[in-house]
Amino acid sequence: MSRISTGRIIAEMARKEYITDHYIRVYLYSSEAYLFKNTTIGDNNKIAVPPAGLDEVHFPTLDENRQWVYPPKEVAPFIRTYTHKGIDLEKNELIIDFVDHGDGGPASKWAREAKAGSKLGIMMRTEEKELCPGAEWYLLVGDATAIPVLSAILETLPETAKGVCIIEVHGKKDEQPLKTKADIEFKWLHNAQPHIKSEMADTVKNIAIPETTKFGYVAAEFSSVKEIRTYLRKEKNWTSKELNAYSYWKAGVAENESEKDRHKEKDSME
Ligand SMILES: Cc1cc2nc3c(=O)[nH]c(=O)nc-3n(C[C@H](O)[C@H](O)[C@H](O)COP(=O)(O)OP(=O)(O)OC[C@H]3O[C@@H](n4cnc5c(N)ncnc54)[C@H](O)[C@@H]3O)c2cc1C
Repeated sequence: MSRISTGRIIAEMARKEYITDHYIRVYLYSSEAYLFKNTTIGDNNKIAVPPAGLDEVHFPTLDENRQWVYPPKEVAPFIRTYTHKGIDLEKNELIIDFVDHGDGGPASKWAREAKAGSKLGIMMRTEEKELCPGAEWYLLVGDATAIPVLSAILETLPETAKGVCIIEVHGKKDEQPLKTKADIEFKWLHNAQPHIKSEMADTVKNIAIPETTKFGYVAAEFSSVKEIRTYLRKEKNWTSKELNAYSYWKAGVAENESEKDRHKEKDSME
C-alpha cells in the first residue's frame, strides 16, 4: 500500500476576520505554503497549537504504530483537527476557519487571541483526495465545525445533483452564504448551546429520501452523528458506501481525549 505524502509547516498569522459572530477566518503565511498546492480544499489537516505563553511550534512525531510522540511538556503543542479552507499561492497563505467556541479549548482560544505573526503548526496531506463520490441525491448534515467541508463539497457538485443540506449554527447571524450549482434545499438550524441539545437528527428523520442513488456526508458533535448514523444505517438500510459520517468533536471532552470514542463509533457499523 502506498504511503500518503504529508507536509508539515510552521505558519504565521497574517490576518484574521470574524466572518460571522462565531466564526474566525485565519489567513496563515508560510514561504512553504506551496507544499500544499495539490491539496483538495475540504480535506482535513492537523494543527499544532503552542501552549499558552509560548510562540514556538515544537512538532510531535508519529512512531511506527502511528502514535504521537510529544516533545517535553513545557513546549508540547495541542494537536487538533481542522479543515483546509483555502490556499493563495501568490500570497503564500493558507486559510482555516475556526468556530469561536470560547476560551475553553486551546485551538479556539488561539484563534481568538492570535495576532499578526502568531505561530501555528500545520500538518496535511499534500495530494488530492476525493471528498465525496458521485450520486444523484445528497444528504449533507453538519454543525458549524463542518461548514468548511460541506461548502467544499457543495462547490464541487454538478448541476444535475439534488439534495438537502442541514446545517446547525449558533444563530441567524452565523448562517453563511454557500455556493453550489446543484439543486440543494438548505435548512439552517439555530442552537446557541451545541454541546447540549441539537435538532439535527430529528430534522434528518423528517427528510423524504428519494429512491435514487444517494450519498450522505455527516459531520457534527458525537451524539448527533451517532443518532443519524443509526437512523440511516439501521432504519433506512443505507450501506456503509452511501454514508460518510464522523464526529468532529464530543461535548465535554477535548479532541485528543475523544478520538478513540469517535473512531469506535464510526467503526461500529462499518
Ligand atoms: C476532520 C475534522 C475537521 C474539522 N474541521 C474543523 C474546522 O474547519 N473548523 C472548526 O472550527 N472545527 C473543526 N473541527 C472540530 C475541531 O477539531 C473541534 O471542535 C476541536 O475540539 C476544537 O479544539 P479546541 O482546542 O478548541 O477544543 P478542545 O480542547 O478539543 O475542547 C475543549 C472543550 O470545548 C468543547 N468544544 C470543542 N469544539 C466545540 C465546538 N465547536 N462548539 C462547542 N464546544 C466545543 C469540547 O467538547 C470540550 O469540552 C474538525 C474536526 C475534525 C475531526
